[in-house]
Amino acid sequence: MTSLRTTSSQTIRKQMIELLTNGRYGARDLSQELHQSENEIYSHLRHIERTLKASGQQLVIEPSLCLNCGFLFTNRKRLNPPSRCPRCKKTRIRRPRYTVR
Ligand SMILES: [Zn+2]
Repeated sequence: MTSLRTTSSQTIRKQMIELLTNGRYGARDLSQELHQSENEIYSHLRHIERTLKASGQQLVIEPSLCLNCGFLFTNRKRLNPPSRCPRCKKTRIRRPRYTVR
């Protein structure tokens, strides 16, 4: 009875923290790795961010980058990627990546 669909959120978050401690991943990578939708990944990330703070670790977000003009989305507080660049209005955005320190 332990198909991937029924894996508990706690287990998934544990796996995510393990992955992120050893590497840098985008939401899409995590989604494929853990068989969760990207929306689920974002909700897990928000949860992990709080959990890590309590244990003295930190979820580090490498900000999105506009591949057209180089604009870095450093002030963006939301975890999901922006759809277009506020400076040049183009949509070629490198998505954020996450790691744990
Ligand atoms: Zn731009």
